[in-house]
Formats: sequence, structure tokens, C-alpha cells
Amino acid sequence: LPARYGAGEASIWVQYIEFVAKHKPAVNLGQGFPDYPPPEHVTKALSEIATGENFLLNQYTRGYGHPRLVQNLSKVYSPLINRQLDPMNEILVTNGAYEALFSAILGHVDTGDEVIVIEPFFDCYDFMIRSAGGTPRFIPLKPKATEGVQTSNSWVLDEKELTSLFNSKTKMLILNTPHNPLGKVFNRQELELIANLCKKHNVLCLSDEVYEWMVYEPNKHIRIATLPDMWERTITIGSAGKTFSVTGWKIGWAYGPVNLMKNLQVVHQNCVYTCCTPVQEAVARSFEFELSRINTPECYFNSITRELISKRDYLVKVLRENGFNPTVPDGGYFIIADWTKLKDKIDLSSERDKYQDYRFTKKFAKESGVLVIPPSAFYSEPHKSLGENFARFCFIKKDDNLALAEKLLKEWN
Ligand code: PMP
Ligand code: GLN
Repeated sequence: LPARYGAGEASIWVQYIEFVAKHKPAVNLGQGFPDYPPPEHVTKALSEIATGENFLLNQYTRGYGHPRLVQNLSKVYSPLINRQLDPMNEILVTNGAYEALFSAILGHVDTGDEVIVIEPFFDCYDFMIRSAGGTPRFIPLKPKATEGVQTSNSWVLDEKELTSLFNSKTKMLILNTPHNPLGKVFNRQELELIANLCKKHNVLCLSDEVYEWMVYEPNKHIRIATLPDMWERTITIGSAGKTFSVTGWKIGWAYGPVNLMKNLQVVHQNCVYTCCTPVQEAVARSFEFELSRINTPECYFNSITRELISKRDYLVKVLRENGFNPTVPDGGYFIIADWTKLKDKIDLSSERDKYQDYRFTKKFAKESGVLVIPPSAFYSEPHKSLGENFARFCFIKKDDNLALAEKLLKEWN
């Protein structure tokens, strides 16, 4: 394996999906996907396309994005970013947000470039930066000492530390808001700090906003591309999997100014060329349907939050009642919870993993039947200890399964 790929260890997803197949936990609150049906109009669109009259929808489509999809993406985002997005030149449709990240990083990061990554971070960023020949520079969000309820927004960056990471080699900063796994929704002041540093040092901002619709009141999702003079240095990423609760569809996108998007197109056209046509058509129709009811409470971009907030509150309560200390998320669909008060109840010596959150989540799944994710997977090697006291719980799960998790947690306690 080329050295730039590191040790080639199985990713957290490969490892924990194997674990699920082997141990068959009663409730899977691990990987982030809904265990209940997506909106009906979304799945109906796909089923109609495959057998519909336009059989050409089963063939290749335009490489940079199916025309009907890029047109609808432009209609959705233009009002949100206060500018007319050019569907043909400023948007690239990709194989999930993963490929958007990959094309953006491979397309812009050169050998010797540095990329600033905020910890905890979605694990693939690290690999992608290294495979482009770049060097990730990590900075952790740290919880402020607060009295009472810990919320995701009490996890903050140290301004001095962030400032000190910028230098002449810095090419890019990767932002993820709403954040996986913390659920942090970066506020305007925090985004301004990042934006001002990017502008001062001529750095690109890659903004991973796949959870953009899942933001809990009174928080607001602010797109960093809308801050003054940030459009020209920002590439923003979204995901149909997250937007429409169809994570298996693997359609994502990136949008930004033409000159930045060119580099993504080069990677995409030679590595992927084009994404699945019928699925792109179905995502396009799904957006059309939502656009027709965009400002109504029924619009999925609004209803998803109502659906999730009660699940969030329920799981927070269950965790508190069962010895965990959850950080209440302001966005997204994950909760990280400190499990260390349960230390004396669980013997981790049978597990051989290096980090104690891996040992805890594995032993806990075997004993309780509830599978969750170890957050140290989202930290660089020197900072893994910052994640080890926590476990990540996914709450986009049907109420029956959340209730089953409660029952299993109680029994285990
Ligand atoms: N970024 C973040 C922060 C994620 O949590 C995920 C997982 N959905 C992705 C990117 C990848 O998204 P996709 O499934 O669309 O490839
Ligand atoms: N984004 C999802 C999560 O964080 C799924 C990640 C994956 O399957 N690679 O759980």
C-alpha cells in the first residue's frame, strides 16, 4: 500500500458493520441511517422512473450532473445563498457527499499543502487529504465547563490555536456544520472567525453541510458561502441521502464558483464520469415536489426536524436515566454521551481494542444489545483520548426501536 494511504486499517464503518453482521445487536444506533421508510413521494418517483416510458432514463446522463437535477438544485439553493446558481457550471453531482469531498480535496490539495481539520471530524477527511499528498492539521473542539445541561454549542474552538494553524502552506479548511458527531451548529460569530482567517491567508473553505435541514430551534443553519467575500473561496457539499432519508441512494453534490468547481470536474470526469441516472432523476423530482410546498410545515425540509426533535429529546432522557451524560445536539441526528460513570458496571478487559471507547461500545453491544459508535474514530491519533469517554448514538430510528433501546438500557443497568 502506498505510504500516503497510511496503515490501511478498515474504517470505523467497515469494522462496525462487520460487528453488526456477526453479533446481531437487538438495536443498531450506530451508523447514521433511518430504519423507517423515506417519504413516499421519493421512493415512488424512483419506482416509476425505472419502468416509465422514458427508457433513456436508464442510460448514461450528463457527466457533471443530470440536467433536471442540477436545475432543481439551483432552484433550491439560489434563494438560500442570495445568488443565482448556474446549474451547468457551479454545481457538480457526485456519488454521495463522499465523492464531493473526494473530488474537492483531490482537485485542490497538492503535495505539501496543509488542510485544517476541526476535530472530531468525519473520518474520511483525513484519508482523502493524505491521498492527495496533503498534510492535515487538526484542531479539536473542546467542551466549555458549563453548569447543568451540556449542549453541542458549548463545544468550541480556541481562537488562538485556530489562528496559529494558518500559514503559507495552508490550502484549505474543512468545516462541517451541522456537525457529525457533536450536532454542533456553528453560529455566525464562529463562522466569521473562520471566514476572516480564510480570507486573510487566502485559504479555501470546504463546507460539509449534509445535515443542513436538521437544525433545532432556535439555532439557524448559516451557510459560510453567504458571508461577505466567502463565495469565491467556498465549496459547499450536500447529500440526497441525508436530505431525503435515502442514504443508500448515494447521490451528493458540491456547489461553488466556476473556477473552483473546474478542479472537481477534472477529478469527477476521470474517476466517476457520471452518477446513476434514474436515482438522479428521482432526486430531481423529489426536489420539485418539495419546492412546490417549500414554505409549508409539510415540506420535508421542515417536517424532518419536527420528527427528529422528539426522538432527540426521548433519547437524551433515556441516556440520562441510565447513567450516561449526553451532550444535547443542536443539529444533525447524533448524540454523543459520556459513558464513564458506568465504568464500574462493565468489565472491558475481554476486548482488545487500543481505545477504551471501542472496548466500551463493543462490550456494551454484546451485553446490552445496543450498538453505538466510538467517537475516537473521529480524532487524529494524538487526540484520540478526547473521544474515548464518549459513545455516539444515532436517533433517526423508529420510535419502537428507541423504546427497545430504553428497555435494554434499563435491563443492562
Ligand atoms: N459528511 C458527513 C459529515 C457525513 O456524516 C456523511 C455521511 N452521510 C457524509 C459526508 C457522506 O454522505 P453520503 O452518504 O452522501 O456520501
Ligand atoms: N454519515 C453516516 C454516519 O456518520 C454514515 C457513514 C458511513 O456509513 N460511512 O454514521
